[in-house]
This record gives sequence, structure tokens and C-alpha cells, in this order.
Amino acid sequence: MVCPNPNCGNQKTICYGTQRGLTTLRYRRCPVCKHPFISKEVVVEDLFSVDHNDYLEDIGELESDVRNRVKRSN
Ligand SMILES: [Zn+2]
Repeated sequence: MVCPNPNCGNQKTICYGTQRGLTTLRYRRCPVCKHPFISKEVVVEDLFSVDHNDYLEDIGELESDVRNRVKRSN
């Protein structure tokens, strides 16, 4: 994740804590400017929607081997 400090913008940050749930929060800090911040992960699409995944595969946004790995793990 990119550092949100407009005077920095470092390409990597450190995650030093995670709060898991339907929304996952990650407590982060930039190793360059030391700016602390929180990032949030949320589900935005149904990964098991066949039609949506067919579409993603057609436009090259989803590789078939990645899709098959997800199917096998569930
Ligand atoms: Zn920074």
C-alpha cells in the first residue's frame, strides 16, 4: 500500500496490526516518513458469481488457473 502522506508517497508500508471481520482493518506505518494510518479491506464483488467471473476471464482480468485454485479450496 502506498503511503498517504502527500509529501512522501512511498510505495511500501508496514502492517503492524490487523482487526479481522467482514471488514478488515490494518494498522500501518510508513517506514520512510513514519506516518501512521489505517487501511480497510471490504468485499466488493461475489467471487463465486459464475457470470461475473466469466466476464472477468473474457476481458483478461482473471486468469483461469487462479479461478480454479479458488474453486478447489472451497
Ligand atoms: Zn511516507
